[in-house]
Amino acid sequence: MTIDVPLYKNKVLFLSQNFFIKDNRSELLLCAHKYDFDILFFSEVSSFVAAVESDQCKGLHVIDLDALHTMQADMQDSRKTLMLGELLQRLPSEQNYVYLQSARQGSRFLLQQRLVDSNCLAYAEKPIANDVLVDKLFNLFVQQKRGDMIRLVYLGELGDLDPAQLLCERIEVTQHLDAQTLHLRVKELQPDIVLITDAEFTRTESLVRVLRKNMEADPVREIALLQMQPDPVLTRRALASGFDAIIPMGDAGLLAAQLINRASKIRISRDLIGKDRATGLLNKVGLQKKAQELIRRAGLESRPLAFGVIDIDKFKTINDTWGHYFGDIVIKRLSLTLASQVGESDLLSRFGGEEFVVVFWDCTLEQGQAKLDAMRQAFGAIAFEVGTGELRHFSFSGGVASYPEYKSENELFLQADAMLYQAKQGGRNQICTGSSGQATKTPTASVGAG
Ligand code: GH3
Ligand code: MG
Ligand code: MG
Repeated sequence: MTIDVPLYKNKVLFLSQNFFIKDNRSELLLCAHKYDFDILFFSEVSSFVAAVESDQCKGLHVIDLDALHTMQADMQDSRKTLMLGELLQRLPSEQNYVYLQSARQGSRFLLQQRLVDSNCLAYAEKPIANDVLVDKLFNLFVQQKRGDMIRLVYLGELGDLDPAQLLCERIEVTQHLDAQTLHLRVKELQPDIVLITDAEFTRTESLVRVLRKNMEADPVREIALLQMQPDPVLTRRALASGFDAIIPMGDAGLLAAQLINRASKIRISRDLIGKDRATGLLNKVGLQKKAQELIRRAGLESRPLAFGVIDIDKFKTINDTWGHYFGDIVIKRLSLTLASQVGESDLLSRFGGEEFVVVFWDCTLEQGQAKLDAMRQAFGAIAFEVGTGELRHFSFSGGVASYPEYKSENELFLQADAMLYQAKQGGRNQICTGSSGQATKTPTASVGAG
């Protein structure tokens, strides 16, 4: 198979105890691949340290403390502790580490203290199931990477809070001045966080209820009261009226630090709900939310949108012939091909197993068809090595519908899906739009799986 881009986005360097990991290795790798990361195993400190030092792509570095034990199995307990010290000293200090330890090691507080003071990102106790370990590592990845923009709307005066500083942390701050229209602004901007000063709340106590009781309100959205002075009576009323949290106004730096921490929690929830772990693309839920936002924006700015649905051809045969794991790799390659061809303002989603949706911003039906067709050709050009020296090409079919011809996300999907059906009926490996009745299909020798 062509390896031009790494298949998995994230990387784990794992210093592991041989007998712990040996039987588990392939199963652990399979789990990791489902979460879009790869694991490189090391059994020696020196090669591990060298790999960590040259790691350019901010991987996670995991250390099984029993690795020391195996390497120094004949040493006394005190010697082992000393070895831990030596290991910690040899680890590049600008990196962070995840430590895996036994329950016995975990019960020693001094050891924990030592670890958390040694660039510890997290520690976990063994035995730990593969899928649990991978899931925890994945969460650490999500926290580390540059996250999506978090939108914050505030009502009232926020003092010296610096919006530029927050923007650097990917938090976009918008001030709103009129309590009576806050619900409209929230509907328009769909913020992740709403801050309301205690002065505004005192003036209009129904504010949060109006925001909350809207059936379409985002359940993940946080609404917080900014309090100038501690006031237990007001706090109680605020909590009863639906505020999630009370934040003391205090110093602007402290407020910013609190907001940054909250934003990172919200990002994690959003990713868990709205993204596919294996590809990092939007899932069905995530797409729905983003597509609705994009359609609203397209309406406001009078721009067209092209909505495409993609489905791999004869995928069941691919699975049946070369196995489910190979099928997963085909899905992964397709997701990378699609991702390399969408723009900043477009949306890309793994909608289901081997089905993808792409929404092109400011794009007509014809342009959308051409873009999807370029993707089809790029995917068709990938040579998959299914056996030694045996190459195969695969294909997908697609259907396109456009906004404003179809108005809602649901209508767009149904129409694009109907066009996809037409593409399948027409012989697959083609993109249909239904407008001209014309499907595009390159008459090249793309070899299907069947
Ligand atoms: P068609 O050309 O008509 O689309 O034929 P097809 O065989 O691709 O039919 P269909 O799209 O209905 O088949 C989808 C298959 O994809 C069914 C399911 O077993 C498989 N599948 C779904 N999700 C995954 C996945 O995550 N990994 C793998 N390997 N297979 C999956
Ligand atoms: Mg399908
Ligand atoms: Mg299919």
